[in-house]
Amino acid sequence: MADADSETLFEKIIAREVPADIVHETERTLAFRDINPEANTHVLVVPKTRYRNLAELAAADPGLLADVATTAAAVATSEGISESGYRVVFNTGSDAGQTVFHVHAHVLGGEQLGHFGR
Ligand code: 5GP
Repeated sequence: MADADSETLFEKIIAREVPADIVHETERTLAFRDINPEANTHVLVVPKTRYRNLAELAAADPGLLADVATTAAAVATSEGISESGYRVVFNTGSDAGQTVFHVHAHVLGGEQLGHFGR
């Protein structure tokens, strides 16, 4: 697992040093398909500026958090799941299974999703 302070894979994807299936881009955000999808639609939305988790992003730049949310909604529309419904998840820390310490929203949908939690 990546150390919480080291550069992450997502900076390399943003810099186009690592390929990804990019589905949406704005000046401040990037959205690309998860390499290991856990639903028919599974897209990750990241701010191009790195914060380690949701709390850091919200504290440092609420406008950028709003941009991430707006991009998540745009992805849901372009993926055709805005009417059927979708889930947006920010895993934070070890109990939630966060593995990449560059804050990211998972946009999940395209089928009936399971329940939260354990
Ligand atoms: P986390 O577990 O930190 O909430 O989410 C990290 C996500 O990144 C996982 O769902 C994982 O499948 C995805 N991921 C890991 N490596 C890659 C990669 O190289 N490319 C893409 N597109 N997604 C990745």
